[in-house]
This record gives sequence, C-alpha cells and structure tokens, in this order.
Amino acid sequence: MGKCKGCGREIIWIMTRSGKAMPCDPELVPYWEAPKAKQKIVTRQGDLVSCELDPRSEKETGTGYIPHWSTCPVAGQFKRRG
Ligand SMILES: [Zn+2]
Repeated sequence: MGKCKGCGREIIWIMTRSGKAMPCDPELVPYWEAPKAKQKIVTRQGDLVSCELDPRSEKETGTGYIPHWSTCPVAGQFKRRG
C-alpha cells in the first residue's frame, strides 16, 4: 500500500507484464473486456486491458484494478520520480 502524492488516497502498485509498477486503486472491481473502450484495467496477472466497468452482460470478464490516473482528481499533476 502507498498513498497518492496528488490526492492522498490509498493506492496499490501492480507490476505489469512489461515490468513497470502501476499505481492503482486498491479495490478489486469487475470488468467487461471491450477492445475499443477508453477505460483501462490492470488484472492481477499484470495485463492492461481495455474494458467497460458497467455491466453489459451478466458475466463479467474478470476482476482487476483501475489505474489510479483514471480516477485521481489531480492526475494532471502526476510526475514520475527517479
Ligand atoms: Zn491521486
């Protein structure tokens, strides 16, 4: 667990398959895979998936974590450190 330097919310770091740690909201949420969707989600396996977060069918694709930059109110101020 960590805290976002921008908004102070708790975040977790998920290691993606490309080896980068991505800050995400700590809640695991259901997602529906949708290749053209703008929303992204990171699965527990580290895959970044385009998806919808609203139910479009009864069966969700799976569960994953929402990248924090898509929910952070001050995402525009994000800066990478060192
Ligand atoms: Zn934030």
